[in-house]
Amino acid sequence: MDFLSRLFGSSGAKSKSKAGYVRREGRHAVWIYVQCSRCGEKIPVRLRTTSELQRREGPDAQLGPGQFFVRKTVVGKKCYQRIEATVDFDGKYDVVDSKMVNGKLITYEEYKKDEH
Ligand SMILES: [Zn+2]
Repeated sequence: MDFLSRLFGSSGAKSKSKAGYVRREGRHAVWIYVQCSRCGEKIPVRLRTTSELQRREGPDAQLGPGQFFVRKTVVGKKCYQRIEATVDFDGKYDVVDSKMVNGKLITYEEYKKDEH
């Protein structure tokens, strides 16, 4: 059952939202968490919803599933690898899709798991 729902869930258009990837900071910012594929560093990334999240409209609306998206280069403290992040959000700033080069999106749970 799990396998099937996962299989069909990934191609379904509705409620593809990935819970747990976003933490809200008031109404004006959200945090996402990125892991560097080179050194494994977990990097918190603050996004201002008012200026950094862009609304998809016009021709852009066809390019991704989200109502908002952000494109950002993230660099950690442990190495100089540049992580190119593109993340799509729905109208409630939940993550609906993400593409990362040199890294991956992790949940807040994963982010704080190894914190000391
Ligand atoms: Zn790194």
